Amino acid sequence: MKKRALGLGTLSVILTFFLASCVIFEKDADNGGKTETSSTQKKEETTSGASEGGYTDPKELKSSYDIIIIGAGGAGMTAAIEAKDAGLNPVIFEKMPVAGGNTSKSSSGMNASNTKVQQAQGITDSNDAFFEETLKGGKGTNDQALLRYFVDHSADAIDWLAQNGIIMDNLTITGGMSQKRTHRPSDGSAIGGYLVKGLVENVRKREIPLFVNADVTSIKENKGVVDGVSVTIQGEKAKTIKSKAVVVTTGGFGASKALIKKYRPDLVGYVTTNQVGSTGDGIKMIEKLGGQAIDMKEIQIHPTVQQEKGILIGEAVRGEGAILVNDKGERFVNELDTRDNVSAAITALPEKSAYLIFDQGVRERAKAIDFYDEQGYVISGDTPQELAKKLNMPTDSLSATLNTWNQSVAAHDDTAFNRTTAMDYPLSKSKYYAIKIAPGIHYTMGGVKINTETEVLNKKNQPITGLYAAGEVVGGLHGANRIGGNSVAEIIIFGRQAGQQSAAFVKGK
Ligand SMILES: Cc1cc2nc3c(=O)[nH]c(=O)nc-3n(C[C@H](O)[C@H](O)[C@H](O)COP(=O)(O)OP(=O)(O)OC[C@H]3O[C@@H](n4cnc5c(N)ncnc54)[C@H](O)[C@@H]3O)c2cc1C
Repeated sequence: MKKRALGLGTLSVILTFFLASCVIFEKDADNGGKTETSSTQKKEETTSGASEGGYTDPKELKSSYDIIIIGAGGAGMTAAIEAKDAGLNPVIFEKMPVAGGNTSKSSSGMNASNTKVQQAQGITDSNDAFFEETLKGGKGTNDQALLRYFVDHSADAIDWLAQNGIIMDNLTITGGMSQKRTHRPSDGSAIGGYLVKGLVENVRKREIPLFVNADVTSIKENKGVVDGVSVTIQGEKAKTIKSKAVVVTTGGFGASKALIKKYRPDLVGYVTTNQVGSTGDGIKMIEKLGGQAIDMKEIQIHPTVQQEKGILIGEAVRGEGAILVNDKGERFVNELDTRDNVSAAITALPEKSAYLIFDQGVRERAKAIDFYDEQGYVISGDTPQELAKKLNMPTDSLSATLNTWNQSVAAHDDTAFNRTTAMDYPLSKSKYYAIKIAPGIHYTMGGVKINTETEVLNKKNQPITGLYAAGEVVGGLHGANRIGGNSVAEIIIFGRQAGQQSAAFVKGK
């Protein structure tokens, strides 16, 4: 594998990818296997040859590996690291020009209960509370075996990341949770870039081959046993690569126009926060092998999306104290309710959009706001009145809303909407800020069915031999509604499990 120094180079690749992926439905592999690629994307592909970003040179491709991992997001890279640490030779194929997937875009953090980080900060939490609140958020429809495994391994996942140099020791809270259990980087910055950089470093340190522009188009099997894939690298002729196991970590389908239309025609026309490669390829390939796809209609709409570019305004902004107001400057919802409820409240407004309102204190605690400001999404005023004027709101209504809110914070009693969390600080430190938002497609809860060993199940609920899956490609864990912060936890917890279980399977052959 061609090795290169990491650091600024990697960060710039991640940032370039982040920006390049901020397009709305521009690439869709449902188009008969062909991809419609935007001009930004084309430029990306021509300017980043596979080895240029430090990825493995296509000339180094072998005809077989122990384990093939499809997709270099958080779940795929985690699985690869575990498989390598178990003594095997995995390979990762990534269809985009850079590693990272939606994981690069994740912002608010990673949930985990009963962690050393929580204990050090005097927070008393329990896996049972995490289980119950996630089940309630998922409307009781979550796969409870997966959920039990998830909460019970969440603290270990934070420790495992730390052992690999990825430190998540700053806590915030997301909607539907009663405790600060959302772990993020020490300085409170967005989790995705930091996590992907750390995982890529670990992949490289272990010399795990990672091919980009490597589009897997089918999974091969022989007499019911999975034994390789067909992959097209750099647009060249497809090659069959053999393996003793395949781990599918291709992410969700939030950027697939065709699948959104098929499963939720009511959502056609919504912007998406997803990267362009999130087109449900893994689900389609697994269905062809007889695997089950479940909960496909359960698509999460995120309440706070900047509409022009489909940029998610992370939940940490509300988790650090922001409120939502309508175009009259009035609150209308418990901002920390679950995503489906907050989205429904915004959609019910005549203007179908709202403003996130926050102060300098929130800005300092949620570092991602600096990025939103650089993109030009943040409107500011020295006083609430000045901000209201810029937003064309009645001048005094915003300051009246903030006064009432600050009294609720002081009394820890929100009589208007029963908000009980993220009420640690008043909104009273100049400057004052607003970001205009509306709901957008964000996360696909549905996907392939697995058991707690990450084995993919067929329609009779039996494992397909040699086939594993983890991450957003999987359905069931989140039920009808995902709690913010639970997906990054899922990709590390089940990515680890997929790496360990596929390795154990290959060793036992
Ligand atoms: C804007 C945004 C913010 C978010 N913030 C948070 C957050 O703060 N906390 C949280 O818990 N969750 C968050 N999420 C959700 C979370 O980031 C994702 O669900 C999670 O990262 C998915 O990880 P993954 O590894 O399963 O998939 P991904 O990270 O999407 O990786 C899948 C990879 O597979 C590749 N791939 C797909 N098909 C093929 C193929 N045929 N061949 C080869 N490669 C293929 C894709 O290109 C991609 O790189 C956020 C999501 C978005 C979009």
